[in-house]
Amino acid sequence: MRHVLAIPLLLAACSTTSVPTGSAGPAARLDARFTGATLRFEYDHVGTAAEEHIAPHGFRVEGPWAGSSTQLEDPTGFGLYRFTVRDRDSGGLLWSRGFSSIYGEWETTGPAKTSWRSFQESQRFPEPRAPAALTLEKRGGDGAFREIWRGEVDPASRFVDRAPIPREGRVIDLHVQGDPSTQVDLLLLAEGYAEGREAKFEADARRLVDALFATEPWKSRRADVSVRALFVPSSGPGPGISNPRKGIWRDSALGCSFNAFDSDRYVLTYEDRRLREVAAQAPYDALALVIDERKYGGGGIYGLWSTVTADTEPAGYVFVHELGHSFAGLADEYYTSQVAYETLQAPGTEPWEPNATALLDPRRLKWGDLVESGTPVPTPWRQAEYDKNDLAYQARRQELIAAGATEEQNEALMRSVRETSGPFLRAEPWFGRTGAFEGSSYVAKGLYRPQADCIMFTRNPVPFCAVCRRALDRAIDLYTR
Ligand SMILES: [Zn+2]
Repeated sequence: MRHVLAIPLLLAACSTTSVPTGSAGPAARLDARFTGATLRFEYDHVGTAAEEHIAPHGFRVEGPWAGSSTQLEDPTGFGLYRFTVRDRDSGGLLWSRGFSSIYGEWETTGPAKTSWRSFQESQRFPEPRAPAALTLEKRGGDGAFREIWRGEVDPASRFVDRAPIPREGRVIDLHVQGDPSTQVDLLLLAEGYAEGREAKFEADARRLVDALFATEPWKSRRADVSVRALFVPSSGPGPGISNPRKGIWRDSALGCSFNAFDSDRYVLTYEDRRLREVAAQAPYDALALVIDERKYGGGGIYGLWSTVTADTEPAGYVFVHELGHSFAGLADEYYTSQVAYETLQAPGTEPWEPNATALLDPRRLKWGDLVESGTPVPTPWRQAEYDKNDLAYQARRQELIAAGATEEQNEALMRSVRETSGPFLRAEPWFGRTGAFEGSSYVAKGLYRPQADCIMFTRNPVPFCAVCRRALDRAIDLYTR
């Protein structure tokens, strides 16, 4: 339910300049260079499959910085893009973060070959005290980041919007554990809930968060995670969001719609500025949009946010899966679903995602330390038989969609798939072991996933594979240390 972009990875070249270390502790360093507020850089990301441009829109001060005061440089190397903030005079790196974007998905779709499109985008970072140089970089074909835009911000200038954040709706503390600077602060936003449905939103949010905390590694790390929910009502007849294939159009609070990139169940919003103004009422590191909808759907983009429709049978699963994309950069491990993305991983290149590999050198598998000796790499499994069954399911699913089937009928089909695919994968000789199983990231051949089954592969009642669990743990560490 999102892309995986076809870009290789050489471990992201880290910058040569960095925050100076000295006798002062990390928090002191943050205080010396940053005001403690959050600064938002708003821009439009514009272009086609062949060219792209960044058009700045403005700067906006939000509330107190909720992120880590010590993890100022991004150590992960994840994301299709990277944003950097440097002291303008010394050139020292103040902040960097990898991210992916709606634009980065758009450019891989068919329409991007022939037409332009513009997307609102933003970066949030600790507000520097002094003028700063900003860059946006994009990963090239060799995996290295290259600058695509450069600009500046002078926080003292009259071009930084310091108006108070408008208050609307209500923040509900669901699971608040401590200081935002040492917690993962997850904020759930209500979308498509009409006035008067606040109690339903709170119940939906609690149910989804319960599903998250029932899943490792979130379960073991629950003391490191604070969860808040923010109810903002949607006007007009509801509940729900726009569904263009059904001719349904709604003026929902955050602008979400089904049918992103003409994919029936893919839910995105293109109204980043509106979304960020609403979200800025609460401290957050990660956003999830919870949608008052019976129709199955969702989405998740690394470093951006995730979406989930609340009223489906597998909503808890979808919430956990999509947050895997948006929070930890996990790739989809499935490969038989129809997706809009046409640009696949270029042969001979390595994906940046932690749980996908092209296995260019099996002796240097990036999760090789998790492979028990005696496990063959690549790891054999009954892929041809699995594919035959799964393609039959995909065909049946398309028939149901074409026939206008009810959500109950769709969910019955999903249940029947779980009843067959779960036992099928469990019977694999290397089930539960980490290796390299061919078939991942929307392609059947040439890309590999770490284990036979995983939350990023199927809707079966299985945990995250060991590689995905570790990636999530590391992502949590980025906010707690
Ligand atoms: Zn996995």
